[in-house]
Amino acid sequence: MSGGHTQFADVVIVGAGHGGAAAAAQLRQNKFEGSIIVVGEEAELPYERPPLSKDYFSGEKTFDRIMIRPEKFWTDRNIEMMLNTRVASVDAEAKTVTFEHGGGLKYGKLIWATGGAPRRLPIPGGDLAGIYTVRNRSDADAMVGHLPEVKNVVVIGGGYIGLEAAAVLRKFDRHVTLLEALDRVLARVAGPDLSAFYEAEHRAHGVDLRTSVGVDEIVGEAGKVTGVKLKDGEIVPADMVIIGIGIIPAVGPLLEAGAAGGNGVNIDAQCRTSLPDVFAIGDCAAFAAKFAGGTTMRVESVQNAHDQGALVAKIITGHDVYYEAAPWFWSDQYDLKLQTIGLSVGYDQT
Ligand code: FAD
Repeated sequence: MSGGHTQFADVVIVGAGHGGAAAAAQLRQNKFEGSIIVVGEEAELPYERPPLSKDYFSGEKTFDRIMIRPEKFWTDRNIEMMLNTRVASVDAEAKTVTFEHGGGLKYGKLIWATGGAPRRLPIPGGDLAGIYTVRNRSDADAMVGHLPEVKNVVVIGGGYIGLEAAAVLRKFDRHVTLLEALDRVLARVAGPDLSAFYEAEHRAHGVDLRTSVGVDEIVGEAGKVTGVKLKDGEIVPADMVIIGIGIIPAVGPLLEAGAAGGNGVNIDAQCRTSLPDVFAIGDCAAFAAKFAGGTTMRVESVQNAHDQGALVAKIITGHDVYYEAAPWFWSDQYDLKLQTIGLSVGYDQT
């Protein structure tokens, strides 16, 4: 083992998001007395991600109100939060994780709860200023900061994040064009009737919503976005572009360490990866979903991340439990609340 891995924790959790926070809190809830360190690459203590495209984006909730727990909760329970720290690699034999900026930790058990990074559009112009994805607080803050200069927004992707962002932007009276490559919005999570309902709602609220539309290029001037060029040559004016076309699970270090997986890291019904003493939970974990006839898939929802975190906490504290939950999910758009049960999301869209 290299000299940089001096500190040991009984449980190391990588990812201070919904799943990581649930696992840590539930370990203490289950009277786990060993040491717990949560390693997170973001600057913030765990916070709720859904409001980033809803009431945090719209300014109705401050950041304090979307924190999963106040700082005192973690310190009172002796849960160490190691923030601004990205895990770059895992050595499953030595049972160590190494940080990108040097150093690392030795673990007894490892819980991988890293979520995913927004998928980018592989087209020209993708690096112009004014193009956003929505995954982290910093993404939402950057969009809000830019908004006063913005008149026209193009949202690429008619999933729930794109639609929610469009709804908030209409509240702010921005001109919004939403482009969906498929023939209907919400195709991954809803049936055709619900898609049609939401398309009509957005149009009624003034969104120029277009389906079956291909995007060729994002165009700009002086390094800043000015429009989105469609496959038919039309250029839709834009001073802000929001891309919501799914995530790529953040599992590189685990797969490189030898864990089985592909689109996510594979887990069994107890959230165990193929590596000894390494669990994975939440958006980054692919499992044979009972509710979907055993199809291997990732589920991107708060409920799934939370429940898998709680399950692993039970297993580590000696319970023999299995993940069988039917996932559920919600979305807020205008004054409408969509709640779905038993949906299947998170499969590869490419
Ligand atoms: P995350 O909460 O993403 O946490 C993962 C954390 O790990 C992140 O902080 C990440 O930076 C960190 N990380 C990644 N790699 C490393 C590394 N190598 N080292 C250290 N840290 C790392 N779900 C719903 O159920 N309802 C909704 O309405 C809803 N709305 C959403 C709106 C938005 C804008 C977004 C982005 C998501 C939404 N979701 C919603 C999905 C939900 O937020 C996710 O399913 C949930 O956050 C998954 O939890 P997680 O713990 O798997 O990942």
